Amino acid sequence: MKFAVTKEGERLKKEKNIAMSAEITVDSGVIKAFRQKLIDMGRKDLEAKLREDEPMKAHTSFRVGGPAQIYCEPSETGEIIDLISASKAVGLPFFLMGNGSNLVISDEGMDGLVIRLGESFSDIRSEDVPTDPDTVRIYATAGTLLTRLSSFASKAGLSGLEFASGIPGSLGGAVFMNAGAYDHDMSEVVDKVVSVSPSGERITWSGEDLQFGYRKSRFMTDEGIVAEVELVLHRDDPQEISSRIKTYTEKRTKSQPLQFPSAGSMFKRPTGYYTGALIEQAGLKGTSVGGAQVSEKHAGFVINTGNATAHDIDSLVRLIQKTIKEKFGVELEREVRFIGRGFSSEVK
Ligand SMILES: Cc1cc2nc3c(=O)[nH]c(=O)nc-3n(C[C@H](O)[C@H](O)[C@H](O)COP(=O)(O)OP(=O)(O)OC[C@H]3O[C@@H](n4cnc5c(N)ncnc54)[C@H](O)[C@@H]3O)c2cc1C
Repeated sequence: MKFAVTKEGERLKKEKNIAMSAEITVDSGVIKAFRQKLIDMGRKDLEAKLREDEPMKAHTSFRVGGPAQIYCEPSETGEIIDLISASKAVGLPFFLMGNGSNLVISDEGMDGLVIRLGESFSDIRSEDVPTDPDTVRIYATAGTLLTRLSSFASKAGLSGLEFASGIPGSLGGAVFMNAGAYDHDMSEVVDKVVSVSPSGERITWSGEDLQFGYRKSRFMTDEGIVAEVELVLHRDDPQEISSRIKTYTEKRTKSQPLQFPSAGSMFKRPTGYYTGALIEQAGLKGTSVGGAQVSEKHAGFVINTGNATAHDIDSLVRLIQKTIKEKFGVELEREVRFIGRGFSSEVK
């Protein structure tokens, strides 16, 4: 696999967003060899799950993205390991995604293999802690939706995941991003993670090893795949839990353009500023490029008004970044990750 030899290409490669610059092309012979490798490994069942030219717009909350050359939704950690081993053996690059709620995928699509951890890798179980009756451990696989996990916890009278009730990501994506809202984030509840390394090794990490920071975790630099997560939650009055979730839901519905496809807040919060306020003060609310628009309801959101392309979104985001830099001297960093052919060597 080849990467663009730009500084940004190097950074993204390191950050695992590697993936895919316009310069990378994967020969159809490599795809054939990958299929054959899985069969040789005794994984005909897994080979049968592969889909070619899968439209990625069906798997992203922004509803944009061209085809992935080859695509798979594994249903257990062993399948992830086998997919990685086979792709490594034949030199096929891969990209790992969850629920696609923090991604813009190129209109030109993606080279290589896309592994998506979704509903087929979604399982939750809980265990009491005999020495501490107020604490319950939750074990869940990475494809589990955060909304489902938060609702499971709430129904069981367990507190800690109320903030996550409206975040449309998978558990793995939420650990990777250290997703958060309303002054809480994943670092407060994640106790252990089982990951799969790029060489297909299973590794167990404790909470302290995960290097959580603002929208940051160790998986952004060490390229590991979050497969299984152990969370610690505490018993609380179910009515109070429901009431906190209700308050957060009302806040979201009031302030966010949830009726339009988007990937949530487009930018990270710059120290000392509110992104939405900066964009609004710059007069950019409602500005459009093609079908992409700065939301009238929340200027920190870029929305797809119906027929946006990834290119429209990227162009609008560049315009916002340039304007804010010129007007206020503030560099807005993208929180949403732009992936696929043509993107990785350009994106900040
Ligand atoms: C309407 C809306 C509201 C939102 N509100 C919030 C919010 O309040 N707070 C917030 O933090 N975010 C919010 N988001 C953004 C998004 O939901 C989160 O960033 C979420 O954690 C992304 O998870 P995902 O599974 O969709 O990841 P994806 O978008 O699929 O992937 C994002 C990144 O995570 C990596 N990744 C995914 N799964 C794994 C895994 N198992 N192991 C390793 N790496 C992985 C991918 O490689 C990629 O680089 C919002 C999005 C929308 C559309």
